[in-house]
Amino acid sequence: MKQNVLGLQFDNVTMQEAIRCGEQFLEGDKPAVVVTPNAEIAYDAAQDPTFCELLNGADLILPDGAGVVLAAKLRKTPLKEKVAGIDFATNLLPVFARRGTRLYLLGSKPGVAEQAAQKMCQLAPGLVICGTADGYFQQEAPVIDAINAAKAEALFVCLGAPKQEKFMFAHRPELQTVRLMAGLGGSLDGFAGNVKRAPKWMIRMQLEWLYRLCKQPKRLGRMMRLPKYLIKAVRGQ
Ligand code: UDP
Repeated sequence: MKQNVLGLQFDNVTMQEAIRCGEQFLEGDKPAVVVTPNAEIAYDAAQDPTFCELLNGADLILPDGAGVVLAAKLRKTPLKEKVAGIDFATNLLPVFARRGTRLYLLGSKPGVAEQAAQKMCQLAPGLVICGTADGYFQQEAPVIDAINAAKAEALFVCLGAPKQEKFMFAHRPELQTVRLMAGLGGSLDGFAGNVKRAPKWMIRMQLEWLYRLCKQPKRLGRMMRLPKYLIKAVRGQ
């Protein structure tokens, strides 16, 4: 079931249900797109109808962060739970390993995707990573060719928003073997260990944003979109 939160049509699913959707996509016959807007991205979407429409074209829209879940509650269109992109990706890894799904990692600075691949294989033994590429390419066509040549079935696109969403929708028709692709922002940095996640107690207390802010103070400007998003949710526009 969909839940409209300030224009974005979030899927009202638990993590387990999201993973089941992901598995269904793998059995489909076209590349499905998964997007994971956090409050900052959702705020941008609320300001920009074109971006909002682009995101709403996804097959699965997951609420990445406590801010979106809170906004949904304030709008009286509650969502079951936060389904963070990196957690969604982590939970998919054993599914891929069990099924033999070929996973391609795209994004982040040179070397990061390879480091992330190593960590992912430790998390899910038997995982098949069929290729990696950094996210600082000049031309997109060779990237698509490489993904097709690797016969990737799952693709993690980690270029930051809105670049990754534009990339996925623009190239969906050219991807020959991909059945599931997900825009996951800085997740490869997370897997590689370059950007540490908050301690478990902070995640539990919905304070991951505070941890990120302390670690990367230059995020303050963009993080100001979180309170603006919540104010919008209270006002309803
Ligand atoms: N990135 C990239 N290519 C670009 C711009 C950014 O691969 O042209 C990567 C960047 O290295 C980082 C990720 O995209 O790994 C964006 O991370 P950020 O935490 O800013 O994204 P968010 O998840 O907040 O959208």
